[in-house]
Amino acid sequence: MASEDSVTFPMPAAEISAVDELLRIVEPPLRYLSTAHPRRLAPNALPTRRILELIDLAAAEGRADRGALGRLRALLADFPLDAEEARQRRAEEGLREVEHLKHPPAPPPAPVYAASEGDVTPMLMLLSQPAQFLKGVGPKRAADLARFGIATVEDVLYHLPFRYEDRRSLTPIAQLVPGQQATVAAEIVAAGTSYAGRRRRRILEAKASDGGAVLTLTWFHQTAYFAAKLKVGARVVLHGKLEMGYGRRQMIHPEVEVLEGVEDELGRVVPIYEKPTEMSVGAMRKIVGATRAEIGARLPSVLPRPVTERHRLIDLAAAFRELHEPDRAADVEALNERRSNALRSIVFDELFFLGLGMMLRKRSIAAESGIAFRPQGALARRLRATLPFRLTAAQERVLGEIGADMAAPHPMNRLMQGDVGSGKTVVALLAALGAVECGYQAALMAPTEILAEQHHGTVRSWLAPLGLAPVLLTGKVKGAPRRQILQALASGEAKVLVGTHAIIQEGVSFARLGLGIVDEQHRFGVLQRKALKGLGDNPDILLMTATPIPRTLAMTLYGDLDLSFLDELPPDRLPVETRVVRERDRERIYERVCKELDVGRQAYLVFPLVEDSEASDLRSAKAMARDLATGAFRGYRVGLLHGQMKSDEKDAVMRRFQGGDHQVLVATTVIEVGIDVPNATVMVVDHAEQFGLAQLHQLRGRVGRGGAQSFCVLISTGRAGPQGFERLKLLERETSGARVAEADLETRGPGDLLGLRQAGLPDFRAANLVRDVRLLEEARREAEAHLAADPGLTKGGVRLVLEHRWQGRLGLAQVG
Ligand code: ADP
Ligand code: MG
Repeated sequence: MASEDSVTFPMPAAEISAVDELLRIVEPPLRYLSTAHPRRLAPNALPTRRILELIDLAAAEGRADRGALGRLRALLADFPLDAEEARQRRAEEGLREVEHLKHPPAPPPAPVYAASEGDVTPMLMLLSQPAQFLKGVGPKRAADLARFGIATVEDVLYHLPFRYEDRRSLTPIAQLVPGQQATVAAEIVAAGTSYAGRRRRRILEAKASDGGAVLTLTWFHQTAYFAAKLKVGARVVLHGKLEMGYGRRQMIHPEVEVLEGVEDELGRVVPIYEKPTEMSVGAMRKIVGATRAEIGARLPSVLPRPVTERHRLIDLAAAFRELHEPDRAADVEALNERRSNALRSIVFDELFFLGLGMMLRKRSIAAESGIAFRPQGALARRLRATLPFRLTAAQERVLGEIGADMAAPHPMNRLMQGDVGSGKTVVALLAALGAVECGYQAALMAPTEILAEQHHGTVRSWLAPLGLAPVLLTGKVKGAPRRQILQALASGEAKVLVGTHAIIQEGVSFARLGLGIVDEQHRFGVLQRKALKGLGDNPDILLMTATPIPRTLAMTLYGDLDLSFLDELPPDRLPVETRVVRERDRERIYERVCKELDVGRQAYLVFPLVEDSEASDLRSAKAMARDLATGAFRGYRVGLLHGQMKSDEKDAVMRRFQGGDHQVLVATTVIEVGIDVPNATVMVVDHAEQFGLAQLHQLRGRVGRGGAQSFCVLISTGRAGPQGFERLKLLERETSGARVAEADLETRGPGDLLGLRQAGLPDFRAANLVRDVRLLEEARREAEAHLAADPGLTKGGVRLVLEHRWQGRLGLAQVG
């Protein structure tokens, strides 16, 4: 057997580093030149060119002190060989740098990770105490904090500053630069309210002086609140942008902190926290500071030693101290740009336990016993024979992955990610037929009635040639028909069920549920998915989502699931032509839409609001449906669909659109999910800047479903500025949902895109899934390695901290 060592590599002749070589050739001539010599020196007394080359090489190697190398370079670059005294002096200086290079300072010590010793239980219990437990937090403050999302002692500690203010050197007011953000310390010398403008708006104006110059402070909102704070004589720290108006220095709505006597908030780096409106900046800082001082030092830091060493982590106590009370030598920029090692350590710790929990969840499901489906494949073959298309390679691959899971004697827990239109339904149905062939039932659960009905229609037409009739169960199905369906499910006579969450509501029981399929899984909560699983005896579960996310992220967020990527669209698809336009193009766009209608096509017009609202000047579906029916689309049949309509109204409209009775459907984003009307070829989204890119991609997926070329027009009203416009432009170029999602993550963060809140994950306290992707990956790997090395989590406090972090969610969220 060929082994690695039998392969020979050409080795470099000698392992001499550039620094060593540099020292070898530079030192002798410098020694010689540093002593007095009467005669004129030869021009080659100092091989400068070679030396400079070596300096560059040594700098590139990165092992030697860059400062010393740089200074040596400067000393030698223009060496005064002819002037004796200068030459001697210069050579001596050079020798000093040589000494420097010979004795490099010791490398910085590895950061210290002071691991917690002993039982961490009492400390974990303390962390779970309500915030009111803390000194300085009474019932009123506790209530304010709770409304703000800070409920426990631990929440207080993890409430990290959003900004750090460098008060080690404050700029005098006289030296502020217009247009730039700055922090100044000053005293309030005057304050008063006045009324201005047509509407007699109340304005608060104050003057602050630092002894050198005066700054005018202006508020248009919260005037009463600030008027009460800004008493003449108050010492304040102000942060804001300097503006020049009528020759005055002015800050509008600056951040203000009233300095409270003894507390020395000047001359250091000060953390600034988000806070409940009712609370002052200083009060919030005091609460966090006191908590940190009282409890921070005992925070359980239980990461395994090799992990902390490999990743150069510091323990949580030290990390929180650094973030909440940066010392005088702190690197403010690193803190503000969120690249301090302290924050990295906290995030790593958080992600390590996230990964560990995910893997445990996955492991416990894999250990359960489930149904081993071994279908001959007869039903599936018959369905394939009647399909008007061939499956794509990706569909075949994913079907293979699902088949292998279903054959295994453990429950499947798989997520199929596939872009809009990638053909997930047929894959799911083929899987369902496997279960049916083995004598089991299959259920497909969709998030809306419209979608459930549509799926039911599709499935019914596909299964008809096979002599199978799927049943439909939604909230609308009542009385005798409902009883009949329930009866058919309980007896096992109904093999395939399509429905909404009505499936998991009371009274539904299956004779033998073998496979549960959840479409648009992010629309469902963990409990709902778990309920579906509970309808059978450990049935297989297949989740589907049309919001693909990047793989690394998926592996972490869905770390407890097996993943399939349906990453190929059927070949006959014409990409939807996408255009971002401005308000002024509206009429032209509507004319274009009419042309499509005239050749028999249909169009969707989407608006961000259901109805006009005082609070917003965005266009609404209701108002626009009225305007358009009598304006731009006069003479065409315009329908209206929005989420506040009763479900049978919605269905009626949907059916009319499907049947072609409505040519134009004015709607809100209720149509975002799954709707399939192949004759619709135009999607116009108004106020497109209001939507996430992934959401727009979903909306775009409503067209381009038939053979005809389709169009998607995004009208941007410009309120998101040029950047917002550019962000939308990405959709003109990008057709892949995964890449759109990635861009969305970068600009907007995960939020609703992932349905994170419903994913049953612990809340993220310090981690940011976009900024921290690399850490996500590293922490997940370490967690995996740790679990492999210590499968029972018997070492250290890892298990206790894990349970604390997941607060019981580990057991709960076994599905999705
Ligand atoms: P999604 O993944 O968005 O749920 P669907 O399952 O609704 O997509 O499929 C979209 C359309 O593509 C359907 O009309 C379906 O019949 C069709 N389709 C599915 N697979 C293929 C294929 N391999 N070739 C052509 N059309 C396909
Ligand atoms: Mg679908």
